[in-house]
Amino acid sequence: MRVVILGAPGAGKGTHAKYLESRYNLPHVSTGDILRQAVDDQTPLGQMASAYMSKGELVPDTLMLDLIRERLTRPDCRVGFVLDGFPRTIAQAEGLERLMEKTLGGGLDAVVFIRVPHDVIVQRLAGRRACKHCGRLYHTAFVPSVNEGICDSCGGELYQRDDDREEMISARLEVFEKQTAPLIEYYRHRRLLSEVDGVGGLEEVRDRIVGVLGLRA
Ligand code: AMP
Repeated sequence: MRVVILGAPGAGKGTHAKYLESRYNLPHVSTGDILRQAVDDQTPLGQMASAYMSKGELVPDTLMLDLIRERLTRPDCRVGFVLDGFPRTIAQAEGLERLMEKTLGGGLDAVVFIRVPHDVIVQRLAGRRACKHCGRLYHTAFVPSVNEGICDSCGGELYQRDDDREEMISARLEVFEKQTAPLIEYYRHRRLLSEVDGVGGLEEVRDRIVGVLGLRA
């Protein structure tokens, strides 16, 4: 199954994509995670991307399309994938469509849009923490770790992403509204879109996503 999870920053894309990976063996492809790794490793891609990421802006489409082509043509994606954070523009969606038709054989099976109101997003992003080591996500108020600042799974250090700081959040939400939200209509028009209410408990939202994808719980 080939799925795109669409939603504003903080809508829960990463959390639910990680679940789909662990439960259904679908590789979770997060372009944000790939870029953050490239920045940490100081690769040429990371050096080009970091200037955009630190301002909450989008990395240029051509770079992103090269990155996604390289990732989706790896053998683990033959069974399918869950895309998180890609596409983020109409040009990326069109590029993905071409890549899938020409190289991957066939199109997407579904696009799930997780809808969350702005005020909830801001609250979620400001409290979001991630494990430096394994990437597990937490929230200081809603999903705290047992020991503050330490990952329950691996003992790694929890950190706040630079772009989750309050001054960056509104810039990122604006980018979402202007550049990414048009994808909702784009995929609705192609009859691929399912919309899910992203407000509620983790398991509640997860069940809604599993339900619209027609997967067995
Ligand atoms: P995320 O973890 O998905 O919120 O992504 C973090 C940052 O990486 C974004 O704010 C962008 O600067 C960059 N990024 C991730 N995915 C994309 C994409 N598909 N297109 C452009 N920039 C991206």
